[in-house]
Amino acid sequence: MASFNPKILLTLVNEATGEAFATSEMAPVDLPESFDAHTTLQLGGEEWSVVHADPQTREAYTNAGTLILRLRKVETIGSETIGFSQLDITERFNDDEALQADEWISTTALNATLSNPESVGLPPPDAGSDDVYRIALRLSQLREAIPIPNDGVYCPICHIANIELAKLRTPCPKCGRGLLKFGWE
Ligand SMILES: [Zn+2]
Repeated sequence: MASFNPKILLTLVNEATGEAFATSEMAPVDLPESFDAHTTLQLGGEEWSVVHADPQTREAYTNAGTLILRLRKVETIGSETIGFSQLDITERFNDDEALQADEWISTTALNATLSNPESVGLPPPDAGSDDVYRIALRLSQLREAIPIPNDGVYCPICHIANIELAKLRTPCPKCGRGLLKFGWE
């Protein structure tokens, strides 16, 4: 008896843009039995991770005849990628020049401005204060190993910065955590 081997319609959606970028007829046996958060696919030499599969199991997508995968491109960090050594930035370059030693300026969390902050070593947007501070401390230690002119200090939790590097590791005036090394551009 010839085996009945129906194909299903596979649709790939780019999670970043919401656009379907490929459709294909596939035999269910050529697809994973189930999709979970760790499933990755190699497509055209690029790695994509499955954000959401509808439906999630082979039985369900075989019965449905369709499978929609929402994918996020896995960003690999090449040597050309900028490495961050702090979690916050200020709004403009040279913000430090007008500041006095006793003045504080607000900073902005970098991970709120990037689509995939974890891929470049930044905490996820929903990370708790302790996790954020731990990552910031590790980055600060790297930055402290390199003399960089005009570096100041900041608190990655209160999002404030000051130009005086002498305040490094002294308590943040708001939360009391040790202040970390901060670059202005
Ligand atoms: Zn603080």
